[in-house]
Amino acid sequence: MKLNVQGIVKRFGAVTALNGVDLTVEEGEFLTILGPSGSGKTTLLKAVAGFEAPDAGSVRLGDKDVTSAPARHRNVGMVFQNYALFPHLTVAQNLAFPLEMRGVGKAEIARRVTETLALVELGSYAERLPRQLSGGQQQRVALGRAVIFNPSLLLLDEPFGALDRKLRESLQLEVRRLQRRLQLTTLFITHDQEEALIMSDRIAVMDQGRIQQLGTPGEIYDFPVSRFVANFIGESNLIEGTALGDQVSIPGFGALALKAPASGPVTLLLRPEALRLGAEAQAAPCRATATVLETIFLGLSVKLRLKPAEGPEMLARLPLRPSDPPPAAEGSTVAIGFRPEDVHVVPRG
Ligand code: ADP
Ligand code: MG
Repeated sequence: MKLNVQGIVKRFGAVTALNGVDLTVEEGEFLTILGPSGSGKTTLLKAVAGFEAPDAGSVRLGDKDVTSAPARHRNVGMVFQNYALFPHLTVAQNLAFPLEMRGVGKAEIARRVTETLALVELGSYAERLPRQLSGGQQQRVALGRAVIFNPSLLLLDEPFGALDRKLRESLQLEVRRLQRRLQLTTLFITHDQEEALIMSDRIAVMDQGRIQQLGTPGEIYDFPVSRFVANFIGESNLIEGTALGDQVSIPGFGALALKAPASGPVTLLLRPEALRLGAEAQAAPCRATATVLETIFLGLSVKLRLKPAEGPEMLARLPLRPSDPPPAAEGSTVAIGFRPEDVHVVPRG
């Protein structure tokens, strides 16, 4: 079901956790709230689930206003970071619980439990207790328990936070597959930008109780609206320049044929993989020479920390196969440069 949140404000004493949040999650969409710790993500989820009453604003599910409906009337499935399974109930009993609450008949419960055990690939674990399962398996039970009653909406609050990297990656794929299969409208929370980029149809970047930008992973990465978003997602070179007419001049680099929205100071985003080096740089309109401060090998790419003759340090990232020689030695001098198509004007600086 479609979720629509409008003008949500939530204060805790002097702290404004949510400062006017508007958001629509389309039916069947996987939308991620991405933001640093304390930005208001969990509070937003609780307001949607009905565990936290907002001071202002509305929550609509489908065509129903549920702003003041109790949590149990919202038909929402939730998964948290700390599994929150019933420790004294078996896997099958944990799965059955939400159905029993809803007064579903015994035979139907048995059928749905079997179906859900298969869905989360725990077919042979029905009689185990949570403490007899690994962290990843417990989280799959929690996921099964959140979807077994056909919720209108699935809410996931940093569900992989406590798991190691490999397990997290396989569960990311599993959750996405399950969400697509069931066509569940999903609101997912993470502070991990990589996880957000991998999983989401759209991402809402949150900071200080507000959504700073909403867009597809590609839009957020390529066209961040502010320094905060540019820095929060991926790595960035933020270049200060001065716009005049159809040109932006950058100290130490020359001028770029680029139309900024207004004359005056302008911030350009140049992703490390878009910075050109060597011969390619020499043919670019904006160029400089730089000293290689450090080369950092990252498996399938290499990152260079560079200090141009004028201006702050910059980062470059180049694809690299393990057998390739390093592109430049530490301490050497390289040409660096960029073209208009390599940069993006950051609208809010
Ligand atoms: P996030 O999930 O993004 O880390 P939260 O929504 O948990 O952020 O918190 C947002 C802000 O609201 C933080 O400053 C937090 O300390 C505050 N906050 C959250 N819940 C409460 C509460 N029950 N009482 C007081 N302050 C709270
Ligand atoms: Mg939180």
